[in-house]
Amino acid sequence: MFSRVILDGTMIKKSQQKKRTSPCNYKERFFVLDSQELKYSERRPGRKPILKGCIKLCSIKCVDMVFTDLPIPCDYKYPFQVFHSNHFLYIFAPDNDCRLRWVHALKEETKNNNLVEKYHPQFWMAGKWRCCEQSEKLAMGCHVYDPVGYGSKKPLPEIPNSERALHDTVHRMVVAMQNYTPFGDRELALQKDKEYILTDSSHPDWWSVRDERGNNGFVPRTHVAEKSGNDFERFEWYNKKISRGEAEDVLIKEGKEGAFMVRNSRQTGVYTVSVFTKALGPNGEKPPCVKHYQIRRTETEESSFYLAEKYLFRTIPELIHYHQHNAAGLITRLRHPVTQTGSCSQEIAGPSKDEWEVDPGELTFGQELGSGQFGKVLWGLWKEKKVALKIIREECMSDEEFKEEARVMMRLYHSKLVQLYGVCTQHSPMCLVLEFMENGCLSDYLRAKKGCLSQSTMLGMCLDVTEGMAYLETSNFIHRDLAARNCLVSKSNVVKLSDFGMTRYVLDDQYTSSLCSKFPVKWSAPEVIKYCKFSSKSDVWSFGVLMWEVYTEGRLPYENQSNAQVVESLNAGMRLLKPRLVPAAVYLFMEWCWKEKPVDRPSFALLLQELSSLSDC
Ligand code: ADP
Repeated sequence: MFSRVILDGTMIKKSQQKKRTSPCNYKERFFVLDSQELKYSERRPGRKPILKGCIKLCSIKCVDMVFTDLPIPCDYKYPFQVFHSNHFLYIFAPDNDCRLRWVHALKEETKNNNLVEKYHPQFWMAGKWRCCEQSEKLAMGCHVYDPVGYGSKKPLPEIPNSERALHDTVHRMVVAMQNYTPFGDRELALQKDKEYILTDSSHPDWWSVRDERGNNGFVPRTHVAEKSGNDFERFEWYNKKISRGEAEDVLIKEGKEGAFMVRNSRQTGVYTVSVFTKALGPNGEKPPCVKHYQIRRTETEESSFYLAEKYLFRTIPELIHYHQHNAAGLITRLRHPVTQTGSCSQEIAGPSKDEWEVDPGELTFGQELGSGQFGKVLWGLWKEKKVALKIIREECMSDEEFKEEARVMMRLYHSKLVQLYGVCTQHSPMCLVLEFMENGCLSDYLRAKKGCLSQSTMLGMCLDVTEGMAYLETSNFIHRDLAARNCLVSKSNVVKLSDFGMTRYVLDDQYTSSLCSKFPVKWSAPEVIKYCKFSSKSDVWSFGVLMWEVYTEGRLPYENQSNAQVVESLNAGMRLLKPRLVPAAVYLFMEWCWKEKPVDRPSFALLLQELSSLSDC
């Protein structure tokens, strides 16, 4: 009997483990749904596909999404389930759109079957249902099943006929706004932020585009945006027609530290960032001055943009956004975008100078609590409050930049961050006035409590750090030196982040260069070691190491290895081993944080969600 193909595409299937002893694995399969069956086969390049399974649609009792509280161990992260003849098939789609399409289509085809009344919205795993804890695999579900759910997601209309004229005469470019996985041969995969040549834009829903390899195909109109001649013209910091001299005049007139603009360089197709600073230039230039940095491109196949150091970005707006928060080799952070007419838009409001400058006369200095890379830490009193006073060793931190940044740090307020109350910059040495943390630094605390830490305490510590980091992540703030030694423990045993973002002000080359002895290689992500590319995702890597420190009760990671050996073993794909005390489900999170590619690592927001649900179990 002839059957119409409804959907096809590549997804990942988890083995159904029909017997207790069958292996658990994840395999890529090509799925085809027609009006009779759901089939999946193994595709082999240049050879005939092998059919691996076939489910009669009439045997299906439930199709729905799976909501999970665990990291997903395969590359596709959007699971759904097909319950058929007493077996559970878990399929993982590459994105949510794709998952919705399959769930919707399968529900549509099976809505008149003999369906379950209730289903399990989470996985069957390790002998129980994660949603309701029942240990009988065929036990009645715990959520009412909706046979037509997700029906509101209207599928796109039919793809236009390929015989249409596909070639616009002028080359127009589009940028992918999101990834897209093709369904069938006539569609093309999109990779977010990549550019494609637009070959036909006549259909309202489907545009035809060509990728860099010359492959043509249809993509949903909603997934791409057409590039104008210059796609950052809309930004206030872009002043197209301004010369170097005029830019200097406007910025000097503005006179604000970090006032900046992006302008066309004399060389066509090249852009320059001009920035005003009052600080002494690196080559002794007298302040105030305007520095000009050409935006450079890498010569690799996938060209990226960068400024002073090799912090690479795929687009110029991304690069500017990053340097608005991080000087990263520039003389100053890009603080105030300036338009050609000179009207500077307001920087995000922060406390006024008076609010953050502490009068040294109000401080009482007590005994030393410890010392670190920036100098001594004393306990003290400020406005009758017990505080910690970090006395910054002279010559140890670039103070002009630090003073400015202290304002940014003071704006960060969260219960899992050691609060910076103020700075005392009027006198030398400079001093930071910090929230007092009775139980000192986390690494010492872990060692002191060895053997006495319960599972929930250890998970709770990781959660505290995740909460603080999720907050920094949404504030666009990169910690850069996340490690147990840089967390502090309060009187009530709450773990809080300290020293966030401070490494930027360290003037010690041994600390700031990844090749040198004090650089925290053992906590650093590969891209930090190789290119000094810091991001929230490089913080996520360090967080994985911090979790490892927690579950080893304060052991030093890669204890007997030198930095060079660590780099070598990371390059060979090796990772820190599972600590004895860590549950398997928690170790999965560590491994997730140590994915080679930053994009494959979870965000802190996601980690927070996933770890919280573990702690609820
Ligand atoms: P640095 O940042 O200069 O390396 P640290 O922040 O590591 O210095 O501080 C050194 C030591 O001082 C810590 O190990 C801790 O014992 C103590 N300390 C630092 N900050 C505080 C604080 N806010 N409250 C209590 N003790 C602190």
